[in-house]
Amino acid sequence: MGEVVIVGGGPTGLWLAAELRLAGVEVTVLERRAERDPHSKGFTIHPRTMELWASRGVGESFVTQGRRVPDSHFGLLDHRMDYGTLDTPFPYVLLLAQPKVEELMEGYARDLGVHVRRGHAFTASTQETDRVVVRAEGPGGPSTMETAFLVGCDGAGSAVRSAAGIGFPGTGSTAYAWVADVTLDDPPAVPYFQKTNEAGQVLVVPIGPGLHRVAGVDGAGVLGYEGQPAEKELRAWLVAVAGTDFGLHDPVWVSGTGSASCLADRYRSGRVLLAGDAAHRLFPAGGMGLNVGVQDAWNLGWKLAATVRGWAPDGLLDSYHAERHPVGAATLRLTRGQTALMTTFTPETLALRSVLDDAIARVPEFSRFLAEQASGIGVSYGRGAGDHPLVGTRAPDLRLSGGPGLFALLVPGRYVFLDLTGTGRALPGRVTTSPEPPTPPGLVVCADEPVESRAGWRRVRAALIRPDGHVAWASEEDDDAALRSAAATALAATTRVRTPGS
Ligand SMILES: Cc1cc2nc3c(=O)[nH]c(=O)nc-3n(C[C@H](O)[C@H](O)[C@H](O)COP(=O)(O)OP(=O)(O)OC[C@H]3O[C@@H](n4cnc5c(N)ncnc54)[C@H](O)[C@@H]3O)c2cc1C
Repeated sequence: MGEVVIVGGGPTGLWLAAELRLAGVEVTVLERRAERDPHSKGFTIHPRTMELWASRGVGESFVTQGRRVPDSHFGLLDHRMDYGTLDTPFPYVLLLAQPKVEELMEGYARDLGVHVRRGHAFTASTQETDRVVVRAEGPGGPSTMETAFLVGCDGAGSAVRSAAGIGFPGTGSTAYAWVADVTLDDPPAVPYFQKTNEAGQVLVVPIGPGLHRVAGVDGAGVLGYEGQPAEKELRAWLVAVAGTDFGLHDPVWVSGTGSASCLADRYRSGRVLLAGDAAHRLFPAGGMGLNVGVQDAWNLGWKLAATVRGWAPDGLLDSYHAERHPVGAATLRLTRGQTALMTTFTPETLALRSVLDDAIARVPEFSRFLAEQASGIGVSYGRGAGDHPLVGTRAPDLRLSGGPGLFALLVPGRYVFLDLTGTGRALPGRVTTSPEPPTPPGLVVCADEPVESRAGWRRVRAALIRPDGHVAWASEEDDDAALRSAAATALAATTRVRTPGS
């Protein structure tokens, strides 16, 4: 019997597969397409996704391939959110074509030993007490396999979701956004052109040698709602909104996306889990879907690995739904809000756009709040009563004296114990005396100086960071013995495997 089968070799499935392999789990990816789609749905990569790559040691290989833009839009308002104010080593959005992202992810996953079976389509599954029976159709005909867990990363139309009987409530499409990758003989003078008025909305950005992406919404009914618009209609749309067709010709790819948005009612049903678009269908407003999907995978990977390996404490796998479903709901709210701004062009909505535009331009806290939501930097998973205020928050790339930053310590995909007393006084004895078991599975220990100057971290004397970079435990305890005891309790909670003397 296999350990994990992932359906879908898009960005979510590939990143999840890599995370599982990193933890030594045997994983198979079924991908129905024989070849990767060469056309790019997404281009926008937000800071938290770059932090995730950096926390696995592959940040440079992605970031050097893209183009950095210091700000991002909200609902294509004229004033943009300044990402330079975010506390991250990546204070910008990265423009990187989705096929390139997938190619780099697949290379990384394959290097770790992930096996992607292309041309294999999932067709059905049934759950039994201790396994899932998965049926697929491949070049050699139908096949059946058994696995301990099945994860649907198979996009918005997820067949895994349907087979598991998981509901996908939401709204239908009332508007369409169009993207067309085209040649422009007379492109806009600015690298990033956008315009919104009663006739709709147009965004024009260069995406490669001789190629521009024209995207937006038709408010004047020029493009129609049936079938793919022809070149002539695309030009008419541009003229209606922008006053010129920029010399558009030879579209190589035209695609329309409806404004429907839905959220799975459960991210887990027994041995079946969902991640990415399979769990949340979002209108492409603000470039969120790929980012949120990959971040789902980051949350799920180490939890599922711990479960498969048998050391997950009770409830760890269920915490995937508890933590990521609210993030999916919040993202849906954010994109629906932007959808309203991007798809209706009444005088009232245009006035609302103008009010929000002013707020972004004049109220830095408002702009920063939106930037934290859109960038993923603001995601926090909450904490229990009595926990330190940092628990559940994303740990920034803490600078530690004489060594690498926190993200580099996370590269092995393990818990990181930070002793910030400067003398190793926070470390429980069993951790210092033995680097091998009985050390809890996957623990990297870092004893260091208390060098952090960030407000929330200044007084912290020890912290435990999860493999996905969120704070599991932190303490400002001054008494060394009490600190060690609290640390031992926090460490013990990471695993159900009990060690001698614990
Ligand atoms: C026009 C547009 C622009 C966008 N721009 C951005 C952006 O800038 N930034 C951003 O973050 N997001 C953006 N998105 C959203 C982003 O493209 C998606 O959220 C992202 O692709 C989701 O990744 P995924 O891996 O979850 O699903 P998918 O990319 O849909 O991958 C699912 C995979 O599963 C495979 N599959 C499906 N069914 C089966 C089956 N039965 N058996 C086997 N395999 C199967 C599919 O072939 C596919 O490879 C945009 C979307 C659109 C439409």
